[in-house]
Amino acid sequence: MCAVVGVYGTLEAAKCVRRALSAALQHRGQESAGIAVSDGTDIRVKTVLGYVKNLTDETLLELLGYMAIGHTRYSTAGKSRIQEAQPLWTDCLHGQVTVVHNGNFVDQRRERSLMMQLGSKFDTTSDTELFLHLYCRSNRSKLKDRLIEVGKRLQTAFALIVMTQDKLVAMRDPWGFRPLMVGKVGGTTVIASEDCAFRQLQMMTGSRVSELRDVEPGEMIIVDDDGVHSDIVFHADHRLQCVFEHVYFSRPDSKTFGLHVEQVRRNLGRSLASVRKIEADIVVPIPNSGIHAGIGYSEASGIPIEWALVRNQYVGRTFIAPIQSDRENSVEEKLLPIVHLMRGRRVILVDDSIVRGTTMHKIVSMVRNIGEAKEVHVVISCPPSISPCFYGVDTPRRKELLAVSHADEICEVIQADTLTYNTLPNLLAAVAPHQDLFCTSCYTNKHPVLEMLGLNQDGLPERRRTVIPLKPSQG
Ligand code: AMP
Repeated sequence: MCAVVGVYGTLEAAKCVRRALSAALQHRGQESAGIAVSDGTDIRVKTVLGYVKNLTDETLLELLGYMAIGHTRYSTAGKSRIQEAQPLWTDCLHGQVTVVHNGNFVDQRRERSLMMQLGSKFDTTSDTELFLHLYCRSNRSKLKDRLIEVGKRLQTAFALIVMTQDKLVAMRDPWGFRPLMVGKVGGTTVIASEDCAFRQLQMMTGSRVSELRDVEPGEMIIVDDDGVHSDIVFHADHRLQCVFEHVYFSRPDSKTFGLHVEQVRRNLGRSLASVRKIEADIVVPIPNSGIHAGIGYSEASGIPIEWALVRNQYVGRTFIAPIQSDRENSVEEKLLPIVHLMRGRRVILVDDSIVRGTTMHKIVSMVRNIGEAKEVHVVISCPPSISPCFYGVDTPRRKELLAVSHADEICEVIQADTLTYNTLPNLLAAVAPHQDLFCTSCYTNKHPVLEMLGLNQDGLPERRRTVIPLKPSQG
């Protein structure tokens, strides 16, 4: 998962992008950050490893222009290398182009090897680089046609912002896996992964947010001197918006896919309380991911909430760390119990998911041994995670998921007294009335899009693929 931002129509474009990334979207990735800016004739790019704050004020002085795009990167594979940091940039027959991407091109292996056979040389391991290769090789003269051609090849999953010397473009795949919003802050057009970014820019500039909406699945929006032009260019017969954005990824103050994230999490907590009745003294949400589900759970169960785990605010999201030993150390450094609130009590811990189990195993043992709790019951706001995601959330391989490798012994592995998961119907009810518009493949292991594209779960081709149908007028 990553964050993308685009800003058009202000000489403070780079500053706005940095503010949106650092103050509103940093949670979506902390491995690298970058900004590209255009002054109408030239594009300049700066990238850094780590947090957005590493893009310093001095760096911003070199990024002058009236439009800009930015990115924060999150991945779990391989080393963090500056070459992988986005925006990616290149110069070709069509002029300069730069791109930021949230998602994952599911057919990347096949496309990459086809490109290599045609003589392409890749500088990164990132699937996003494919975009640049396909773009440069296109012989369509109009930008829009070129991007349609590339989008059709890349299929899914993408929320992309592309910048040429004089145009800013947002495009979203037709299933709408990843979120993308567009709106105005004062007279400036802004595109961003989550709407909290718009409110942050309102704080920064003092200008009102208006015309805020989702970039529709399949939509392409081109912003230039002539204004904002929008068209639905890719079609799918249903939506597959990522439910995990609501479960974990988005910020609770965001409205993602038309629903308030805080409300969905609270709904999940409320329904979870009805799955199993647990006799306990206190409900303790695990900060930050269990906070809102914990509130809902306490409301519905009538068991009082206690904020008995203190989170070290100086560590980031621990799952995001690419190496397992780093993840373990950062979980240990992240939380400590308030002992007098837990001692001798029956505690219900609320969190959003168990993936590998690293986090929950350590927390349960800490709550017992340091917090001196009498009993530790774990409740999880979602169903068991039984499939990796191929559409942009970096979950591990299937065999590394605890609910797959130890399906019947999860409670023993994490050493809880009881373990309760939420159910799929409750998850769908929490996102009502839009339940038919979501992808829940991490909980069902059903992958209709992979099947449609003829790919197996290793991203390898099984048969000839079908391509995204285009609007008839676009051929
Ligand atoms: P684990 O320790 O592997 O079981 O990870 C579980 C914790 O990581 C949960 O508390 C979640 O809040 C968080 N989490 C779950 N899935 C993801 C993901 N794909 N990316 C980042 N964080 C995640």
